[in-house]
Amino acid sequence: MARTLHDLAAIPISRLEGVSPRLEPRLAQIPIHTVLDLVQHYPRRYLDRTKRAEIADLRVGEEATVFAEVRKIAARRTKGNRSLVEAIVYDGSSYLYLTFFNQPWRAQQLPVGTEAAFFGKLDRYRGRHQMTNPVVDVLGSIPEGTEKTGVIVPIYPQSGKADISTWQLKKLVQEALSRTGEFADPLPEEVRARLRLIDRTRAYRGIHAPETDADHFIAAKRLVFDEFLRMQLGLVARKRAFEEQQVGISHRIDGPLVAAFHARLPFSLTAAQLGAIAEISADLARPRPMHRLLQGDVGSGKTVVALTALLAAVQGGYQGALMAPTEVLAEQHHLSIAGLLDGLVVPAEGTLTGERPIRVELLTNRTGAAQRRKLAAQLAAGEVDLVVGTHALIYGEVDIPRLGVAVIDEQHRFGVEQRALLKGQASGEAEPDVLVMTATPIPRTAAMLVYGDLDKSELREMPPGRTPITTEVIPPSPLERAGAYERLRAEVAAGRQAYVVCPLVEGSERVEAKAATEEYARLEQEELAGLRLGLLHGQMPAPDKEDTMARFRAGELDVLVATTVIEVGVDVPNATVLVVEDADRFGLSSLHQLRGRVGRGGGPSWCFLFADPQTDEGKERMTAMAESTDGFLLAERDLEIRGAGEVFGERQSGFSDLKLGRIPRDEAVVVEARRVAEELLDADPALSSNRQLAEEVEDLLGDDVEFLFKS
Ligand code: ADP
Ligand code: MG
Repeated sequence: MARTLHDLAAIPISRLEGVSPRLEPRLAQIPIHTVLDLVQHYPRRYLDRTKRAEIADLRVGEEATVFAEVRKIAARRTKGNRSLVEAIVYDGSSYLYLTFFNQPWRAQQLPVGTEAAFFGKLDRYRGRHQMTNPVVDVLGSIPEGTEKTGVIVPIYPQSGKADISTWQLKKLVQEALSRTGEFADPLPEEVRARLRLIDRTRAYRGIHAPETDADHFIAAKRLVFDEFLRMQLGLVARKRAFEEQQVGISHRIDGPLVAAFHARLPFSLTAAQLGAIAEISADLARPRPMHRLLQGDVGSGKTVVALTALLAAVQGGYQGALMAPTEVLAEQHHLSIAGLLDGLVVPAEGTLTGERPIRVELLTNRTGAAQRRKLAAQLAAGEVDLVVGTHALIYGEVDIPRLGVAVIDEQHRFGVEQRALLKGQASGEAEPDVLVMTATPIPRTAAMLVYGDLDKSELREMPPGRTPITTEVIPPSPLERAGAYERLRAEVAAGRQAYVVCPLVEGSERVEAKAATEEYARLEQEELAGLRLGLLHGQMPAPDKEDTMARFRAGELDVLVATTVIEVGVDVPNATVLVVEDADRFGLSSLHQLRGRVGRGGGPSWCFLFADPQTDEGKERMTAMAESTDGFLLAERDLEIRGAGEVFGERQSGFSDLKLGRIPRDEAVVVEARRVAEELLDADPALSSNRQLAEEVEDLLGDDVEFLFKS
């Protein structure tokens, strides 16, 4: 009988003959526990043995791959105490010297007799041919009769670390595949033919044991499609479940409150804002709950759009809630919202004028018990119109009984469950409308993956008044750093303000706070002596934080020395200089968010990235920051540099399943998978006639979707 992936996941790896009790724990390190893990442990790349070079034919300066056996290897230290491993390898045509600097493990990795592929540039040193620091793929000692196993050699990832050679893995995979026999294929024949995808049995064989380069290429095409199809099925099913099973509120969108709010704004809305508001309004008016993502770069003006949605709720007698990921951000939102709404009134019975000022309250973990009780009572009585807060909004004992619109800011720090919990705060039958805001611009396809269960609105146009930002990467040279501090002092002298962001510290928020405190003390004594410095970090009591922020906002402080608590939302247009220490420790999106604190209209701005990147990735990030201020472009770069799994991995279940699929490379496949997922679910909403596929999606997404495919 043909096997499903679900079947293979139930077979422990120890059932294979080739897996000895000694090998099992090493496989577990990779980690490979089941036969499914093994057959989905795909080769990292392939070496074409017919394209290998013979050592004897190589010329100095030429780059090539040679397949050779280690004949001699020794480790020693140079005079400068650097580690040095020297080896001599032989490929039947000639000998070659290899030199590895600072890679002491090579001596263990390449014992005499090991067969490996070495890629590098041939050079001449002291009269002999050698390669320095070549790329190594250990093949292990080649079993008997190897020539027949094909000319394309799969190279498996991590085989070095777990001390399993690529040949060993190849052998195990062969055993697994031959014992598995036929794979059951859940993809309808018609879809397969239309998309020119091969069947699963051929795909697993082709990826592990290709006979030509074309074999692994078309195999990967099928397997990548499967990965994205599973994700899209889960996301589309979830989106439909929301839409079809839930009763929403039909909000009135053309009332006086929203109109009054817009009329009082000190600026006119941009076309992008108007467009997003139109899309949101249409959702709000429908009797189905909204699940929409509002995407827009830092400073694109999302707050006004979100507030418009919240006010639509209030104007119909409902309440609105805005949840932010950090206390500082919640406080900041609360302040700016209170400012924007100042003077607005809502209808109220029993008052002389028949109206009262609109009421916005703040709820965070710092809110005291007494205030919390009071707030709970006022929310219950409908006396509070809007509540802004952190997780406290969902995990506390405070209800928002007439919650009509919920806005979640900076969603990437919240999960799907928190979205659901916030909605659950409403006590009525109808589901509140949900708007998720993110300032991390997400490329289109990635958005299709991460937020595939949401509709999307985008603010691609910046409001007028942004000022240009010059970004400079500053190496650890005292002279260049002094130059940056000089610029900062010059700006302060001209009446502007600045931020100094302290490095991310591995470990706890406490360690980070301590580092920031020390840096604050140091700067006060040294480079920034004489300026008015403030300190802001996550461990400070809320009133102190508020006080510091208020003084900075009022211009009573020149420089704010802070941890990343200022990353999101802090809005002080007069700030024109940002210094980020150890900038290479931050990810691209964090850096972009941080940089968005300046260039807010106060004048031409500077962003100094103090950095000494040690890795290629770190260097690429610094270059990307210096080259662009476009959030979308940077997000694309981030995906290219790190890959989707890294960028979204932690918060999106399902990304762990992306073994072959890559975003943005596989954009077209995602679009196709999305279409097929929609078709399949159109025809069979619970996939009841394709249990195999339903099972695969459930195995992938777990509890998140189990309810969607009830059999
Ligand atoms: P985001 O939350 O998207 O980062 P904000 O909503 O905080 O951006 O807006 C950034 C700044 O731009 C704020 O100071 C806001 O008052 C201002 N702003 C918003 N919309 C407009 C507009 N249409 N014209 C001018 N300024 C605007
Ligand atoms: Mg904002």
